[in-house]
Amino acid sequence: METVILAVIIAVVVLGTISGLVVSGRKKKKLPPSPPAAPQSSVTAPPAEPQVGEEAEPPRDEDRRTIEEVTLPTAEAPAAEAPAAEPEAPAAPAIEVPEPTAGRLVRLRARLSRSQNTLGKGLLTLLSREHLDEDTWEEIEDTLLTADVGVVPTQELVERLRERVKVLGTRTPEGLRALLREELLTLIGTDADRSVHTANGIGNGGDEIPGVVMVVGVNGTGKTTTTGKLARVLVADGRSVVLGAADTFRAAAADQLQTWGERVGARTVRGPEGGDPASIAFDAVKEGIAESADVVLIDTAGRLHTKTGLMDELGKVKRVVEKHGPVGEVLLVLDATTGQNGLVQARVFAEVVDITGVVLTKLDGTAKGGIIVAVQRELGVPVKLIGLGEGADDLAPFEPEAFVDALID
Ligand code: GDP
Repeated sequence: METVILAVIIAVVVLGTISGLVVSGRKKKKLPPSPPAAPQSSVTAPPAEPQVGEEAEPPRDEDRRTIEEVTLPTAEAPAAEAPAAEPEAPAAPAIEVPEPTAGRLVRLRARLSRSQNTLGKGLLTLLSREHLDEDTWEEIEDTLLTADVGVVPTQELVERLRERVKVLGTRTPEGLRALLREELLTLIGTDADRSVHTANGIGNGGDEIPGVVMVVGVNGTGKTTTTGKLARVLVADGRSVVLGAADTFRAAAADQLQTWGERVGARTVRGPEGGDPASIAFDAVKEGIAESADVVLIDTAGRLHTKTGLMDELGKVKRVVEKHGPVGEVLLVLDATTGQNGLVQARVFAEVVDITGVVLTKLDGTAKGGIIVAVQRELGVPVKLIGLGEGADDLAPFEPEAFVDALID
């Protein structure tokens, strides 16, 4: 009996040892020497391949727990995530190099001639008629009026054309084109100073300060866009620029301006939405002085609800900026597609602030380029820049010769 009990004890001990060896042996075999690819990083990490000699069968429940315990921390470790996340990380905005301004109007002339066909080509066709009778002259007049040249300039032009055609007796296509070119140029004017005044001024403290340009106009005309494009024009010409987002009336204007600035590496000074435009403009010039920037461009709000409100606001912005020193340029932005309405706006703005130059936007989308003549007459200041599209470099210095050539070629 004792022998039997002893034999049973020995058998139990031996069996226990053997089963323990089997379990721990399986665990050892299943535990990978290094952590397998985690499920979280499986998008980009290669799938874990079974190693030679390892079982390829799916892990059992008890083993899965063991694998999870081992792999979870690894999967959450940032080091394992980094290579997968790297391509999606937001790239720092690259600073663009705007295209040079020289010859921009020539590059953009196709846009101009497409939209201005009725003016230039229409006039040429009419002038080329065999008999220039009264009806034809009336049609010429109508063409000019439709293009918004304005009543008085239209009458002047028709009169001169009639006289010169009669006196010169010139009727060849080349002769007529040359004649029309000359007369249109006379109407637009070739002597005006069309440069945007951005030279340094002398500050009230006697030191040099950046050139200050205020951009004014009714909201929607393309004012903020023009300010951004002008920053690019200046940067393209090697100038450093600070932007002042003083259009605190339109909610998105400051963001919009800042985006333009960031693209060319220009800092934007902005304030709270609905904040005081004059103090933002003041701070912008202060920043420009601190940075020794070449030019400070100030975008303003253009609310036409009351003339007094506008006068108060724009007048105040200018006066407050002038505490630093002179404002070199006040550019009025007008939307060329608004025709006579644009002229009404021009009149109101001219009454509240001294306009020194005009920017005509959206000339790519209208046949009413004659507004150039009308607005210059109205304000007695030259058109300096024209907008010919929504592209970043679609703002061109206004060159009368290239403009007229685009109309009649
Ligand atoms: P703001 O309210 O006067 O500051 O107007 P924005 O600068 O926001 O411009 C209003 C719209 O006019 C935007 O969609 C501009 O892209 C567009 N715009 C501005 N200038 C031109 C231009 O020369 N041609 C065309 N086609 N669109 C323009």
